[in-house]
Amino acid sequence: MSLKPGLYVTATPIGNLKDMTFRAVEVLQQATLILCEDKRVTAKLCQAYDIQTPLSAYHDHNGEMVRPKILERLRNDQAIAIVSDAGTPLISDPGYKLVRAARDEGLSVFTVPGPCAAIAGLSVAGAPTDRFMFAGFLPAKTHARRKVLTDLSSVHATLVFYETGPRLIEALQDIEAVLGERNVAVARELTKLHEELRSDTVQELVTYYENAGPPRGEIVLIVTPPEKENWTEDQLAQMLTDLLAENSVKDAARMAAEKTGMARKTLYDMALDLKKHD
Ligand code: SAM
Repeated sequence: MSLKPGLYVTATPIGNLKDMTFRAVEVLQQATLILCEDKRVTAKLCQAYDIQTPLSAYHDHNGEMVRPKILERLRNDQAIAIVSDAGTPLISDPGYKLVRAARDEGLSVFTVPGPCAAIAGLSVAGAPTDRFMFAGFLPAKTHARRKVLTDLSSVHATLVFYETGPRLIEALQDIEAVLGERNVAVARELTKLHEELRSDTVQELVTYYENAGPPRGEIVLIVTPPEKENWTEDQLAQMLTDLLAENSVKDAARMAAEKTGMARKTLYDMALDLKKHD
């Protein structure tokens, strides 16, 4: 296989070295350059797979400075790979500005998909997966964290966060305080020797970790959506009537959908009907 010129966004293992794909190995072997966050981390991967391609650091602190040189090499028809320390680049990792700049110039960007902690956690948590929202890392400070959680409280989807061991208890306490009764899965050290998934109500998990102490390792938090309330026809009609007093039919339907988790189209039709018979 010889690589077409372009930027190859390449996923690497999130713990278990054997989760490297055949294609990722080929791409990293054949690229002219591998951009990585930490050369020491990626050097270990390269050693394991006989990858001899030169490594170059690309991260939040030098991105601005090195991007022009990378784009120049891409314009000169080179095949360049970008990896992160683990998992899929750009997912709470550097690379977004480079991909956007390459795309803006019409340069080719290819995906070499593979492990991603968020998806790995979601796939084993037992939470609904038909609709989910990845929300990255929660802020470290309580005030900011509660604000983010408040913004997410009306989202009718499974929420997926990245978290660290030392901050887990505080994060769970704030989830309990802001989101109320939810089921949460703590997916820890996925694909590694001490892989563990603990799933329970957030209240039980707070109690458990307060007793056991903060766990070690890397964590994905998966929070189930709020329970859908069973709204009666009368309650829905009343809510829509109230919303229609100050909003358009479209906006009233959108707000009611956010509140109830029901389909916007259904609520739009109901609101339209109410408006007609006003
Ligand atoms: N881009 C990466 C990906 O696709 O998974 C994520 C990078 S982010 C900087 C690192 C965070 O991902 C960790 O703090 C942790 O929350 C999560 N993570 C990474 N590896 C993990 C693993 N093996 N088990 C659980 N969570 C993991």
